[in-house]
Amino acid sequence: MYLAAKTIDYLIVGQGLAGTLIGYRLERAGHHVDYVDAPEQRAASSVAAGIINPITGRRFVKSWRIDELLPAARSLYGELEALLGVQLWYELPLIRTLFNRGDENDWLARGGDPAYAGYLIDDPALGRIPELTQPAYAYAGVGHSARVDVAALVSAFRVRQRDAGRFHAVALAYPDVVPEGASVRVTLGGDPRRYDRVVFCEGWLARHNPWFGYLPHGGTKGEVLIVRTAAPALDRLFKHRIFLVPQGRNTYWVGATNANRFDDDSPTPTNRQYLEDRLREVLTVPYEILEHQSAVRPTVRDRRPLLGRHPKHPALSIFNGLGTKGASLAPLTSRWLVDHLEDGTALPPEVDLARF
Ligand SMILES: Cc1cc2nc3c(=O)[nH]c(=O)nc-3n(C[C@H](O)[C@H](O)[C@H](O)COP(=O)(O)OP(=O)(O)OC[C@H]3O[C@@H](n4cnc5c(N)ncnc54)[C@H](O)[C@@H]3O)c2cc1C
Repeated sequence: MYLAAKTIDYLIVGQGLAGTLIGYRLERAGHHVDYVDAPEQRAASSVAAGIINPITGRRFVKSWRIDELLPAARSLYGELEALLGVQLWYELPLIRTLFNRGDENDWLARGGDPAYAGYLIDDPALGRIPELTQPAYAYAGVGHSARVDVAALVSAFRVRQRDAGRFHAVALAYPDVVPEGASVRVTLGGDPRRYDRVVFCEGWLARHNPWFGYLPHGGTKGEVLIVRTAAPALDRLFKHRIFLVPQGRNTYWVGATNANRFDDDSPTPTNRQYLEDRLREVLTVPYEILEHQSAVRPTVRDRRPLLGRHPKHPALSIFNGLGTKGASLAPLTSRWLVDHLEDGTALPPEVDLARF
């Protein structure tokens, strides 16, 4: 728990996962926090499955700093569950398909590394997988996996802020933000206000930000299907060529695609077809498609978040670049940024925007 020496007035621009967690931590430190978000935009946080998968890629590599990220995530989402009265954290085993002997050998080779103890499960319990999906060459289990209901978090937190009169549902125009020495003048809905600090959390749209647009913001578009089956759903996360993520009431999140080049952030017929084809390869029970969604993940060239104060305008900060792993990265990295803003604690160089 931080003790604010002085209450600081903050404005958070963008209330997706990044804006929610940084805002919550600042409020908890005793500061006044307002939020602005353009609800008509597609936010990555409202489309994400929120999978926490500590072992990723074809080579089964442990995610960056996962040993530190996991306890921070469990603790912060647990606090927010209590505050908001919504379940956010689901401990769910993760099973992944091994497609051939090469996969199996790579997996077994990793298992010999003591740093991976507890993360690799060679003979996992499969639950309903054999009942509902095509047989596979072999299966492996990933320990310490979970799912965070990111969309539920963002929406419950928004309701709370709206009820408190701290949420503004508008797209902030950058000319309405004017840094003036130690503070910032902001015009919100025609109403001029003054904030001590502004934290930008605009996701992939940060590329248009006049102060932080120079950073190497990328964007990876992802499309997903929400499907329902008549049969009882899987009781674990399942990674075949795509992920099947049970969401309750026989529905699944199915995805996702990855595209570094895209014309806009809308769903496309081609990717819907791609996802349907992958689903047909794996699921053996009939299903109906309820929704087809898309959004852009805020990625960075070196795959690390972007945190810090603007070099010339210290009243402006950024919390961005959560990429494909926001659910696990955001809890700890938001703490780093708050410590940095509160008492000047140095940011780890891997996430400090000063690296660019
Ligand atoms: C298909 C898909 C699947 C994913 N699956 C997972 C997963 O399983 N696990 C995982 O950990 N991560 C996953 N992610 C990644 C995760 O969603 C992101 O890391 C995270 O949600 C990013 O949060 P954010 O707050 O930075 O961005 P966003 O959620 O995009 O939020 C940015 C917000 O800023 C607002 N905004 C932007 N500009 C302005 C402005 N000028 N004025 C007002 N508001 C503005 C937008 O409206 C938006 O609400 C997935 C992403 C996608 C797209």
